[in-house]
Amino acid sequence: MNSFYVGRFAPSPTGHLHLGSLLTAVASFVDARAHGGRWLVRMEDLDPPREVPGMADDILRTLTAFGLHWDGEVVYQSQRHHLYRDALNQLRRRDLVYPCFCSRKTVFSEAKCMGVDGPVYSGRCAAIALRSTDKNQKSPAWRLRVANQTVGFDDGIVGHYQQNLDHDVGDFVLLRADGYWAYQLAVVVDDAAQGVNHIVRGQDLLVSTPRQIYLQQCLGYASAHYAHLPLLTNDQGQKWSKQTHAPALDLHQQEALLRQVLHYLGLPPAPEVNHPTDLLMWAQIHWHLTRIPAAAIATH
Ligand code: GLU
Repeated sequence: MNSFYVGRFAPSPTGHLHLGSLLTAVASFVDARAHGGRWLVRMEDLDPPREVPGMADDILRTLTAFGLHWDGEVVYQSQRHHLYRDALNQLRRRDLVYPCFCSRKTVFSEAKCMGVDGPVYSGRCAAIALRSTDKNQKSPAWRLRVANQTVGFDDGIVGHYQQNLDHDVGDFVLLRADGYWAYQLAVVVDDAAQGVNHIVRGQDLLVSTPRQIYLQQCLGYASAHYAHLPLLTNDQGQKWSKQTHAPALDLHQQEALLRQVLHYLGLPPAPEVNHPTDLLMWAQIHWHLTRIPAAAIATH
């Protein structure tokens, strides 16, 4: 693994940044800076129906307002489809992927069992004569064949985590039937292409990590260090997100909000540290992943 630290923050421009996304941005930024590393920002704008116009710029303005200054140019996944296509072709040449014509209904009705992320695909289309196009049918999704083996890793916050992809997930989608690239493929291709070797992100993505490690192995990429942050929950115990109406960050409250997320990260700042830049600098000096709790945090 590359010894120089490269980290990143990879928001999807589907809404304003909220307290949960600020926690991820701050933790990934401070972890990178504490290691003398680079911190990249990648806009994961792969799913236009879910995106909100103007949000990518809004997110970048918000990061800047909080003193979270990134290195290099912001990368936009919408401009990198050729890389995802190359990776899929590489897997296709090695017969590691196959086209799947199953509807959502079929996937649910034929599921082997329920896995970590919903129904476990039965492998129906892997077993039938394969065609990548069929004039009577719509375009297929493309799925990666998974092995009946355990894929595990040691997370910097959560500890050891593993899955058997065949039992827990099933062959998973890399290119969706609607023509959009799946998050799992794009994130693996981009992290490798950008030399990212430290990934600090929310625990909602913990269940995706074994898939991403397996995909890295299939594509011959190096893996990364992972640290999955506790999720922030609202007063009803739900994860803060656009769906649960998480309020946008108030740009007039940078100090208070930074103090709040540093507190959640196990680093309540000294009272005499005030300005956002000083708070972030203070956090870099005192930073340690072992201070971060693994369990979800109820916000007030
Ligand atoms: N774009 C994803 C999100 O906003 C994050 C992807 C990642 O960090 O791997 O939830």
